[in-house]
Amino acid sequence: MSGADIYHEMIVDYSRNPINYGKIENHDVTFHDSNPLCGDSIDIDMKIDDDKVTDIKFHGKGCAICMACSSVLTEITKGKSIEDARKIEKNDVLGELGLEHLQAVRIKCALLSLKVLKSALYTYLGNNMDEAQDRDKLKEEASNLY
Ligand SMILES: [Zn+2]
Repeated sequence: MSGADIYHEMIVDYSRNPINYGKIENHDVTFHDSNPLCGDSIDIDMKIDDDKVTDIKFHGKGCAICMACSSVLTEITKGKSIEDARKIEKNDVLGELGLEHLQAVRIKCALLSLKVLKSALYTYLGNNMDEAQDRDKLKEEASNLY
């Protein structure tokens, strides 16, 4: 199999059996966003203890790329400190699935979960900390992602 085929298989697998799929009933923060162009719509729930993301799950519906990227992103994020989770960049997710050169029209499918994650983090910071400058920066990052 070529590299592209392997990545394709991974995306299909993740979309059939997404990782970290579900809800966290006693979450500390949750956020929802959608990508109307494709119909992707996801929520991310997080449990945060001592500034660390101890659990993260997503639910909703999306195309194969959206589901695969949400699976990869939640895997990357789980166990990270808020500080490190904030530093996750689009290529950290895209690179895992060989999607660095995705067409513009599909990039929103791939990055929706990262946008939701960043939005959830600034919501959490906004609710729990008095770091207005940090929060605004995250908010800006989330809205400028694509
Ligand atoms: Zn999509």
